[in-house]
Amino acid sequence: MKKTRIEILEEKKVKITANRELVLDVFLKHEYALSLADLEDLLPWGDRATLFRTLKTFEQKGVIHQIKDGSNSTKYALCHDSCGSAQHLDIHPHFHCQECDKTICLDKQEIQINSLPKGAQVNEYSLIISGFCSGCIIRLKEY
Ligand SMILES: [Zn+2]
Ligand SMILES: [Zn+2]
Repeated sequence: MKKTRIEILEEKKVKITANRELVLDVFLKHEYALSLADLEDLLPWGDRATLFRTLKTFEQKGVIHQIKDGSNSTKYALCHDSCGSAQHLDIHPHFHCQECDKTICLDKQEIQINSLPKGAQVNEYSLIISGFCSGCIIRLKEY
């Protein structure tokens, strides 16, 4: 069963405000990751500073995570239940469509790293798989 906005915010220990509920709602309604520009288009209010603060709080509390998919804009997507304020535990690859620029979270899976520079320490890593989504493949074939 899908969790409600209130349940998610309570579980991640985020104080509930009307704005935070609205932002979370937009994420819940989209299967793909959203950029700042997407969010501004989708939200009824146009206050960039408030939106930015909300995203920061969500990120710190493990509600959403940032994705750098190689496009010009950073995107955000909902985190897994296991993410909390201490750390994002849900490391998973992302699929980026080069045609429509949509980015989708993939299920968590083991990413093997067999080689690192000598003496290096890993702080974070990401895997972006680029290609065309099924919708774009159909559209491209029609041309
Ligand atoms: Zn696409
Ligand atoms: Zn993701």
